[in-house]
Amino acid sequence: MRIAFALLGVSAAALIACSSAPEATAPAAAPAAAGLAVFDPSLIDASVDPCHDLYHYACGGWIKANPIPPDQAVYGRFTELNIHNRDKLHEILDAATAQPTEANRKVADYYGACLDEAGIEAKGLDPLKPELARIDALASKKDLAALVAHLHAIGADVLFGFGAQPDFKDATRNIAGQGAGGLGLPDRDYYFKTDAKSVQQRADYEAHIARLLALGGASPDQAAKQAKAVLALETALARHALDRVQRRDPATVYHKQPVHALDRLAPHFAWAAYIKDSGAPSFADLNIMEPEFDKGLDHVITATSLPVLKTYLRWQLLHAAAPLLSKPFVDENFAFYGKIMRGTKELEPRWRRCVNQTDGALGEALGKLYVEKYFGPDAKERVEQLIGDLRAAYAKDLEALPWMGEETKKRALEKLQAMVDKIGYPAKWRDYSSLEVKRDDALGNDFRASAFETRRRLDKIGQPVDRGEWSQTPPTVKAYYSPLHNDINFPAGILQPPFFSMTADDAENYGSIGAIIGHEMTHGFDDKGREFDKNGDLNDWWTADDAKNFDSRVQCLSDQAGAFVAVDDVKQNGKLTLGENTADNGGLHIAYAAYKARDAGQPETTIAGHTPDQRYFLAYAQKWCTNMTPEAARLQALTNPHPMPEFRINGVVSNMAEFAKAFNCPADAAMSRGEKACRVW
Ligand SMILES: [Zn+2]
Repeated sequence: MRIAFALLGVSAAALIACSSAPEATAPAAAPAAAGLAVFDPSLIDASVDPCHDLYHYACGGWIKANPIPPDQAVYGRFTELNIHNRDKLHEILDAATAQPTEANRKVADYYGACLDEAGIEAKGLDPLKPELARIDALASKKDLAALVAHLHAIGADVLFGFGAQPDFKDATRNIAGQGAGGLGLPDRDYYFKTDAKSVQQRADYEAHIARLLALGGASPDQAAKQAKAVLALETALARHALDRVQRRDPATVYHKQPVHALDRLAPHFAWAAYIKDSGAPSFADLNIMEPEFDKGLDHVITATSLPVLKTYLRWQLLHAAAPLLSKPFVDENFAFYGKIMRGTKELEPRWRRCVNQTDGALGEALGKLYVEKYFGPDAKERVEQLIGDLRAAYAKDLEALPWMGEETKKRALEKLQAMVDKIGYPAKWRDYSSLEVKRDDALGNDFRASAFETRRRLDKIGQPVDRGEWSQTPPTVKAYYSPLHNDINFPAGILQPPFFSMTADDAENYGSIGAIIGHEMTHGFDDKGREFDKNGDLNDWWTADDAKNFDSRVQCLSDQAGAFVAVDDVKQNGKLTLGENTADNGGLHIAYAAYKARDAGQPETTIAGHTPDQRYFLAYAQKWCTNMTPEAARLQALTNPHPMPEFRINGVVSNMAEFAKAFNCPADAAMSRGEKACRVW
């Protein structure tokens, strides 16, 4: 299932902290994934000096012992836990397939259909033929809108994006949003970069489009010509799209206008027909996120011939469907997106791809089964205590900030107190009863799941924002902050070692999950989050002086990150990573203060030769132990707002005098920036 249109990286979140306990079958504590610990002395490489390079000291042993498996491009401790979680979901799905019940029938059928490789091979391109015929039947550009609405519903990312989003200026209401889309490469910059690697990737991309079009029925000659035209069309779209750094600024992507403004920007697309056919409720205003893109879109529609437009739609449809079609499609899709773009050597086993598909399509139905089996109420209680401690430490930090005036401090404290936490899983599970799942129709299931999700989102337009909703599924090994909801969210999947353990001591839990909680809280006060107020509204609550002080302090962080070489000649982007980098730095500071407050007066128990303070920083560092292919490192540096793992350790601890003190580092040590340290929160 694919929903191509992400609005500001936020789809939904909550004001209601979950309070209902899981079913009575929940175990007392989630069993630790085999062999994973929050702090593990055996991962250390003692030949490295922690004052010189904490990352390779804390992770050197792990890095040597964990080469990248052939079916992964990035293998870190997040991946380790994620693979354990996939194994658990695998067991749940196997059991459901063997013994379907009312509660698990849909996930069992979805998974079973995806797993039925023989059935999928036998059908070849047949399941896609009705959709391809629909594109073939397009007789004029006038009828394009209805077709685009249908393709969007089934998950093909063509021409632009459309969906629902909270109104940035009134985050209690959902409005319609429309923005840039329709590109097959990861970012608009990929269409224009002139370095040798990028030029080669574009040539590979064009060849991939040609091969997929040929698998879809074009002759090799035709397909080569068509691929060139598709790449030219996407390049024209990309020319008018904002880049990732520009899109991080909420004000740049907020233009609330009457719906007829779309007709003024792009008069050659039948917007009214599109909106009607999308099934969206009627509305008067919408957020036109990138008006310049829409002007470009209009030009693309008028300047491109009907046959080329149809070829482009055909390509995007084949691209969306490829993972659930027969082997030649799966292999071709992997050859470009897996091997060339990410450096992955082999496809993941089919069962794991199908677990991921089921998690994507029926995430809260599968997640409910996962939570019942693996997430206990005591983990939730302990995490609530951690969050309470972090909140108290954050308040103290805000009150004592030397660079912020009283008025802004008061608003910051209000925002902190209003920040809601959600732990584990949603209080109200999603109702999938209207989604039809067939045991013998993998691609149809995928299209119907996309249509169900697209419709579910469009139905929100004009409705109050549901603050109980989650945008990650319960088994996910991630956490998030939502600026439009001012809430922090921790799925059950991450509340396990190496991030959290009921048996680890405070130094370790505060260093690992504590720093993650602090990270998510700090997102409320990073360069993007600070523009939203306690209600999630885009509303400037800063005095001019305080804003200036903030800007100069984050500039320090941006400069540090921008100097770090990610891979070969590619440096990290200080501006793209600024929000995450601010959150990392703030999170580790606040979690440390919370841990010190919690453990005040406790005896300094040494474990494996490490003091509690040392274990705090080692637990922080060890969650980021990672191996990645050079291709994945390049992709991350160019498109991902998260800094590289090594920088998330060394770049952050070197800003903390508490780290240098814990390890008795000399004043000139690499991990001690001294006077040059950056500090925001
Ligand atoms: Zn983050």
